Amino acid sequence: MAKASMRERYRLLTRDLDWSPSYVSSEKLYPYTRFEGIKVHDWDAWEDPFRLTVDAYSKYQAEKDKRLYAVFDSFTQGQGHLGLADARYLNALRLFLQGVAPLEYQAHRHFSYLARHLDGPGPRFAALCQSIDELRHFQTETHAISVYNKYYDGFHSPGKMHDRVWYLSVPKSFFDDGLTAGPFEFLTAISFSFEYLLTNLLFVPFMSGASFNGDLATMSFGFSAQSDESRHMTLGLEAIKFLLEQDEGNVPIIQDWIDKWFWRAYRLLALVACMQDYFLPKKVMSWKEAFELYFEQQMLDGLFPDLEYFGIKPPRHLDQAIAEKEYLSHQVHWTLYQFSHAAAFTTTVPPKEELDWMSAQYPTTFDQHYRPLYEKAARMQDSGNRFFSRGLPQLCQVCQIPMLFSEPGDPTRVAFRVSEYRGERFNTCSDGCQWIFEREPAKYVQAWLPVHQIYQGNCGGATIPDVLSWYGYELGRDNGEYAGSVDQQNWAKWHTEGGV
Ligand code: FE
Ligand code: ZN
Repeated sequence: MAKASMRERYRLLTRDLDWSPSYVSSEKLYPYTRFEGIKVHDWDAWEDPFRLTVDAYSKYQAEKDKRLYAVFDSFTQGQGHLGLADARYLNALRLFLQGVAPLEYQAHRHFSYLARHLDGPGPRFAALCQSIDELRHFQTETHAISVYNKYYDGFHSPGKMHDRVWYLSVPKSFFDDGLTAGPFEFLTAISFSFEYLLTNLLFVPFMSGASFNGDLATMSFGFSAQSDESRHMTLGLEAIKFLLEQDEGNVPIIQDWIDKWFWRAYRLLALVACMQDYFLPKKVMSWKEAFELYFEQQMLDGLFPDLEYFGIKPPRHLDQAIAEKEYLSHQVHWTLYQFSHAAAFTTTVPPKEELDWMSAQYPTTFDQHYRPLYEKAARMQDSGNRFFSRGLPQLCQVCQIPMLFSEPGDPTRVAFRVSEYRGERFNTCSDGCQWIFEREPAKYVQAWLPVHQIYQGNCGGATIPDVLSWYGYELGRDNGEYAGSVDQQNWAKWHTEGGV
């Protein structure tokens, strides 16, 4: 066994430990892989490029985790949190812990389901490895960020918040949509559209953001996860190519899923765009630059010409995503600025240098449409009139983001799409979300929309404080305005007195 090559050991581990059922049909053994219309003729044609075995996997990961936890320990003992660029940066971590880390856990659960239910032993084993990776990610992210929970607000109840809070229903419902689809749609959604197409747009802002802003704990987690991510990306691409090669009839089904999940994932990233341009005191690159580099150049110019060979075209509604790069982050942040009394993070008007940076990054939109809003808000704040919106926003039935997006290419007109289903009206934020709704209305009419739930009395009570308590907030600490917040005051005190 020791002398067998990696390839041979992998074959023995996957193919040779598999067997053909004798007293049940394989349809009964694997009941979930036929109803989506995908046809697989030869599961053995699945080639896993990594050929990782269990012993190699655990040895390698144990080494990585040992190094990672040594960094966490020294960071905690050395009061590393005081080396952050500014306490305002912590809002990026709140969003990550509340919004992203729970998705890792959901991914862990669903990949372990795939590890049972895919017919082929190769993909089952690949799914098993990814399932363990995702569980580790949830744990290492939680541990990386837990060091901040000792000193700062907003980090204490991420699980509860993820299930309940209005803006967190955006990531939660995205993943729920994937979990309730069939196994092949899930693979196209999460492994391909999310992990392969868009993962750099999630991880680069958060991890480079951590590094630029002095957050050694999160940065080290990011490096540790990177080798897993590259495996996940490869799995996503292999899965797609495998399905496309198995049967020509699979091509239009997969194209449809890519069209749907590109837009779903892109809409989810609107929160990341805002985080990147507004929550990082030290900027890494703008959302627009990141979108051009990691999506337009790497995916549109690099990947999609290759996929053309399989009959796959770039995703539907792509032109609208490209048009939005000029103003996406500003539209989202302006909304969050007005609603952060109901968020478990704080917002504020960016300081003048940052407004200047945005003017330079977004020369065709920022000065014209957004800078005047912030300058007015700053004047109001200076005269003691920081305002918050008291109403509840209307949400998109699909992405669940408040209806804040404009018509593509025109930042002045809010987009509002209406569809009818069984005599009721449903609102969506864009052509992309409307197309998704109308493709599967029976699914999206069931959406748990936070604002509707609040009005129906299902969220702790009739007043805003009732609802925020039900969310698990510590009122006046976790939410509201950054300037003058408990975190900001402590930060100022610790930096003049030196040490906690
Ligand atoms: Fe992960
Ligand atoms: Zn939408």
